[in-house]
Amino acid sequence: MSAEAEAEAKRTAPAEKPPAKGASPGQKSGLQSGQKAGSKPGQKPGQKPGQKPGQKARKIPMRQCLGCNQHKPKAELLRVVRTPEGETVLDFTGKKSGRGAYICRDVACLRRVRKSHRLERSLDCTISDAVYDRMEAELSGQEEHP
Ligand SMILES: [Zn+2]
Repeated sequence: MSAEAEAEAKRTAPAEKPPAKGASPGQKSGLQSGQKAGSKPGQKPGQKPGQKPGQKARKIPMRQCLGCNQHKPKAELLRVVRTPEGETVLDFTGKKSGRGAYICRDVACLRRVRKSHRLERSLDCTISDAVYDRMEAELSGQEEHP
């Protein structure tokens, strides 16, 4: 009994498909013409208000490393800040307030500025050996754990 019902269901299922297939083209063409008309206004060129015609390529702020004199993108360099308290610290966030100078994230460049005293001249302060030692330690620590 149940097998017969199943067979009947199988028979009815494929039988339903052909009529649906035949009916869809007529319905589709009606939908397509409606969609085409609706999509046209959205394709208008130059509709975006945020884009100015004279748009320039994004400017990357460049800074000079005091150690090797190379100009590099600010984000690649390490900021050294003389804080309002007179401390000289490495500013890994680039957001500390105070007078800043830039060097590569490279201990070699830090040692170079230490020798040449360019950092002290740039920041207009004296930097003690202890401060340099701490900066070197911080910088080498950063290199080990990027
Ligand atoms: Zn450098």
